[in-house]
Order: sequence, then structure tokens, then C-alpha cells
Amino acid sequence: MAIPIHDFAHSLILAKADDDLKQQLVIHFETSDLSAPDKAPLVVTTMLVMTWVLQQARSMYKAAEQETLVAAISSSAKPNALAVWSSSGLDWIILSEGLMVLLRDRIDSVAERFAASFPELIDTELMRRLLAEKPLSGGFKTSLSSFLYFAAVAFFTGHEAGHHVAGHRSQYPKRAHAENSEDDAIDRGGDWLIGQALERDADILGLTLCRIAMTDLLSKLWGVTEAENLSAYEQQVFQRVLAALISTGALTAAVFIKPKSIEWVEVPKRSHPPAIARLLTLASIISFAIKKNFHGLDALSRRWIRVASLEVAVGATIVPGTDADRIQQERIARGGEPAAIRATGIRKAMHDPTFRKYMAQLDAKIWEIRPRLKPRR
Ligand SMILES: [Zn+2]
Repeated sequence: MAIPIHDFAHSLILAKADDDLKQQLVIHFETSDLSAPDKAPLVVTTMLVMTWVLQQARSMYKAAEQETLVAAISSSAKPNALAVWSSSGLDWIILSEGLMVLLRDRIDSVAERFAASFPELIDTELMRRLLAEKPLSGGFKTSLSSFLYFAAVAFFTGHEAGHHVAGHRSQYPKRAHAENSEDDAIDRGGDWLIGQALERDADILGLTLCRIAMTDLLSKLWGVTEAENLSAYEQQVFQRVLAALISTGALTAAVFIKPKSIEWVEVPKRSHPPAIARLLTLASIISFAIKKNFHGLDALSRRWIRVASLEVAVGATIVPGTDADRIQQERIARGGEPAAIRATGIRKAMHDPTFRKYMAQLDAKIWEIRPRLKPRR
């Protein structure tokens, strides 16, 4: 049986009749206004990406329930993303226009850094064909920016879908979960690790969905439908380009919405892992996924993609004139090392034994609560 295709116009009608959803929209976006599918080019492009991801996420639901996974765009200028388990029986994924604009406005700088960090990829025949494509609509300077935007939105959508697919509903008694909210902590006797373990769980599914959507998109653009159409060398290039775009796009999505400093003492107070910890857990998920899915890449290229994409995503967040910027410039002047990763303290955190302990705690927690999660699969 074919999976029913998600239709934003139809979901908009469902959303307008869903009082539970409206209530959550007002709480998290301060408005229940939703955007029509033809509202603006950026909305059109974002819905296209979301449809791609939803299609895949629906395949992870039982056949009878595939159509209960639905999405909409909030007109709010507040950057946020939301998962809502409505009493109407619908599982909602909501991204706001504010989030879309935030990502769009910064992605050109990410793309410039990407081109500078991966010159050998930019210089390949496959990449040249990709860069010759028209950018997706929505105000992107280059097609590279728009593909990185595609990856970032695919990851965000996939992360929200991940909360639904993995059955996190029972863990959110308020029947909603917002990404950009510190006071949304799960209140269960101070067990702060649960919320952070669920984030990691949703990141894993989000990345899988992002990878599938990006592979689909690039295969289409390149006119590559069968792997055997490519020579061994082309296949390797294809995998390197995909891995670098997915990795940079997902890290970009994760870094834009959260505070940037790491303070381990603060960890218990937050529903989401502090940004650096979130980035590092995500980076470890990405490197595992690349190893598992891209067999054409050797350890050296995988390591390069890991370091360079982290450097690109983090570098784009450094504000000129800040301490981090000064340290970064000093590092660049001395040459050699990934400057942004060092300047923001990420390199230090990577080697912090507290971080490894924290990761182990998250993994133990998700195993502990897994039997209580009720996926629709
Ligand atoms: Zn989440």
C-alpha cells in the first residue's frame, strides 16, 4: 500500500479545527496563526522539504495511522519548533516562520565557510553540476546555501517526527514539546536526564530522516537513480558530498537555537542538553551514521568530514568582536588547527571526562525508559 502523501492545504483545514493544537500554538508561539502553503517562497520551499521528510516518517507508522502524522507552519516570528500530541488523535509537527528566517539568514555564511573548508569537494564534477542548479526559492544567495537549508530543515522536521515515531508522548504530560524553551522541562521528580535522553533519541531519528531526504534530493538533481550508474570514483564523491552536506546541515540546525556556552553545573536545570553537549552528542551520532551508511569513505575522510563540518557550523555562530572571535583570529593567524572548535571550547569539552560520563548517562537513561515509550510503529 502506498503511503498517503502529506498535503499542507489539507492539514491547514485540520489544524483550524483542532482546539488542542491552537492552545499549544498560543503557549509556544504567542499566536495560533498558521501560514498558507502559497504564503511566500520560503514557506513553499520549507513545506517541500517537510513533505519529503514526513513521507519517510509516515512509513515508520502503522498503516492505519500514517495519516495522523501531520505538519503546519506557524506564522510566528519567534524561532521555535514544536511536537504536539493532540487529543484529536493527530500528531503535529510545527515549525515557525521565525525559525525558517533565522536559518535562512545565516545559511549563506555557513555555505561560504563550507566552500572554503571542502575545496576538493567543490572542485568535483558532481558538485559542479549541483552548484549549477538554480537555488531553491526563498532568498538564498547560492544553490549550496539552499541545499544546506534543505538539510537543516530536514533535520529539524526529522527531530520532531522522531519524538512522535519513538513514542515520547507518555513522557510529556503537557502533550507538547517545544525545542526553544528552557522552562518546558519535564517535571518528574527532578529527573532531568530523561528530557535530555529524549532529545538525543529524537536526534538519532532526525538524522536518519535527514539523510534519506537529502539522498533522495541529490539523487534526483544529479539524475542518479541507480548506484550502478556511477563509477567507483563517482560513488565515493557522491558519498562524500552527501555526508558533508548532511553533517553540516544538521549541526547548523542544532546550533542555531540554543545557548552556546557549556556549563556542566547548569545541566540538571535544562530540558535540553547545553548547546555544546548537544552538538557533541549529535556529532557522535553523525559520525556513527556516516560509518554505517557510507561504505565508500575511509576513516580519514570520515574524520575530515567530522572535524570540518563541526568547524563550519560552529564558526558561523561566532559573533565578530567577541572573545571567541578574538581567540579564533589568533588561532587562524597561527595556522593549522580548527580555530572555531578551539575558540568556542568545543575541543576542550570533547576531551572532558565529564562529557563522556554524561553521554553514558544519557544512553543508560534511554534504555531504562524505552519500555515505557509507546511508538505508533
Ligand atoms: Zn526535541
